[in-house]
Amino acid sequence: MENERRILKDTFGREHTYLRISLTELCNLRCTYCMPADGIKLSPKSHIMTYEEIYTIAKKFVDNGVTKIRLTGGEPLVRKDAALIMEKLATLPVELAITTNGVLVDKFIGHFKKCGIKTINVSLDSLDASKNKSITRRDYFTKVYHNIELLVKEGFQVKLNCVLIRGFNDTEIIDFIELTKNQPLHIRFIEFMPFDGNKWNMEKLVSLEEILKQVYIHYDTSSFMRLNDKPNDTAKNYQIKGYKGTFAVISSVTNPFCDSCNRIRLTANGQLKNCLFSTTESDLLTPLREGKSIATVIEKVVLSKKKTRNGMDTLEKFKDPNSHNNRSMIAIGG
Ligand code: SAM
Ligand code: SF4
Repeated sequence: MENERRILKDTFGREHTYLRISLTELCNLRCTYCMPADGIKLSPKSHIMTYEEIYTIAKKFVDNGVTKIRLTGGEPLVRKDAALIMEKLATLPVELAITTNGVLVDKFIGHFKKCGIKTINVSLDSLDASKNKSITRRDYFTKVYHNIELLVKEGFQVKLNCVLIRGFNDTEIIDFIELTKNQPLHIRFIEFMPFDGNKWNMEKLVSLEEILKQVYIHYDTSSFMRLNDKPNDTAKNYQIKGYKGTFAVISSVTNPFCDSCNRIRLTANGQLKNCLFSTTESDLLTPLREGKSIATVIEKVVLSKKKTRNGMDTLEKFKDPNSHNNRSMIAIGG
């Protein structure tokens, strides 16, 4: 076991104990920052991991030290056997979590409880129905908002993911924070990141610094608290004194958190990525199907992980469009 655990330790001493599994490349929304306008080239169905393969790969990771698995996508809940996958993975000794756009959440409340899922991340980028429709290219705001309320009522810890884009929703930062006044919600403002086909540019990005500036202007300094971050937390956490909920900023662009990164990603077609920004990936599914060892592939992927953002260690390098030769986010799994 001691020998095996090492396959998840990289050359910088980081232990990869957190596996994010994308269940599907499909989605019932079309968020502009995630899904290119003309869609993506989908993998043939036969190249998508079956639920048994997902379980086998996940178990290999758990046997080697993974303690947390997050299901993502695409939209994980559109996959027909999503409930079955959750149930299978729930038999492993891990914390199971999910990131969803919230549209189908009401149909899965019982499954989440049965599988011991306690924290649900839901994406919501605007509190305005028409703006929401324009960013998701679909009209589900009311449904999603009701589902967020339902999750809170049912006792789940709800984190709301909000990707900030200048000129679109940067005027809603305080409105989102005010949601935490009476509700135990955790709002996470995410800096807009570049992926294939999402028309990213630095001007559209709303930085951690700018977000905090707005907070300082609106709230009295003495009523604004910086909270302790958990180990491996990607977010910088804050709270307005007396409010039930909290808020955070995920500043992958302006303040990367790679030093404490413990994440590794498996795409729906069985490719392993050692970083959200990695431009290469390694096939786990073919060796698995051929009955070969996947541990050697995993070890190689972990050992080749770079120190910071796949080598984009400065903002200058990050801004270079040639560095963004990556999949679209929808096909990685955020
Ligand atoms: N469909 C689910 C959802 O929307 O929550 C899960 C998959 S989605 C790819 C996971 C997360 O990635 C979402 O919170 C989404 O907001 C975030 N995301 C997608 N594209 C992004 C981008 N370009 N920059 C920052 N975050 C992004
Ligand atoms: Fe779908 Fe989530 Fe991407 Fe939006 S962010 S298109 S909901 S996968």
